[in-house]
Amino acid sequence: MIYLDNSATTKIDPLVLEAMLPYLQEEYGNPSSKYYLLAENAKKAVSVAREQVAALIGCHPDEIIFTSGATESNNFIIKGIIDHYSSSSNLIITTKVEHPSVLETCNYLQTKEVKVNYLDVDNYGRINADQLHSLIKINKPVLVSAIWGNNEIGSLNPIKELATVCKQAGVFFHSDATQVIGKLPVNMTDIPGLCFLSLSAHKLCGPKGIGAAIIRKQSDEIYTKITPLLHGGGQENNYRSGTLAVHNIVGFGKAAEIAMKQLTDNQRKLLDLESYLSDILSSTLGDKVYFNHDNSDKIPGILSVQFKGVNNELLLKKLSPYAALSSGSACSSSKPSHVLSAIGMTSEEIRQTIRFSLSPHTLPSDLDFFKSLR
Ligand code: PLP
Repeated sequence: MIYLDNSATTKIDPLVLEAMLPYLQEEYGNPSSKYYLLAENAKKAVSVAREQVAALIGCHPDEIIFTSGATESNNFIIKGIIDHYSSSSNLIITTKVEHPSVLETCNYLQTKEVKVNYLDVDNYGRINADQLHSLIKINKPVLVSAIWGNNEIGSLNPIKELATVCKQAGVFFHSDATQVIGKLPVNMTDIPGLCFLSLSAHKLCGPKGIGAAIIRKQSDEIYTKITPLLHGGGQENNYRSGTLAVHNIVGFGKAAEIAMKQLTDNQRKLLDLESYLSDILSSTLGDKVYFNHDNSDKIPGILSVQFKGVNNELLLKKLSPYAALSSGSACSSSKPSHVLSAIGMTSEEIRQTIRFSLSPHTLPSDLDFFKSLR
């Protein structure tokens, strides 16, 4: 079977697994313990992983708070900021195409008297800096949260411009970069207004159950203030107490290191693969296929394709013995996509859409299967 659902999750890289195994076996020390070698080894392994993840996204290792994944990071950052600053402002600005872990967090906060403004997106799922600037001028929020690259259609927001608008207005800016890291260059140091980032390891051939929330320091010493997620022994700069999952952290670090080394090659491979697949679909099905995105400005390897006149659920079931695909996000596959609806697609068009998400490990010959589609 061909696996083409890499935006849902990816297969763990064998080198990542190899790096993790000792920390599930003989290297079982707790990195918060002291004086003996097992603890020191665990502490060192976590510190190396922190540097590997920091190198991938251009932040300082101390700015990384390991979490269980991007869902937790999004919850933590948004709730943590609102909790800490609610006396100054209780408004959040976000977009209509965020991952459910942002949207549902905002929905929850609305039940606690927090106000949320949802920015409309263009036909390709993007917001722009002028639109954000105009809204902020009318009503200053405490936080803006905008997804970097969309998990369903791959569209990219102009994160640097949005961060500049937020910085000038003195507003915190958070972005969910889960689908972008390892596929496009990310350098937080180049984007001074970007205060928070959410990441996940299992989208880049790392293990499930580990991710990170990045909280940028405002100066050498001062962290942006945000209410801790878990109170306890003070791990992760007091933000998320609890014994660290050393094996998962080591796996995340290794996956980040590999992704960093292979970034340029992988980008090229993904672009070649997606153009190969688009050509196959277009030449096999002609005007029965339509691509829902702007090919020049998106995450490489994500294709959102309408199959005109075909019910996507029936097609997915029919293809399931041969190809693993999804209609959109794995998190909300039972509901019609809020992302496709926000870009103006009708419910009929949404019911005809399938997401292909490729991996650098996908082979062109895997994609030849789609030549048999009629
Ligand atoms: N944000 C985006 C954009 C995603 O695509 C996903 C996963 O699908 C998440 C957040 C949630 O990530 P995790 O599975 O690590 O909680």
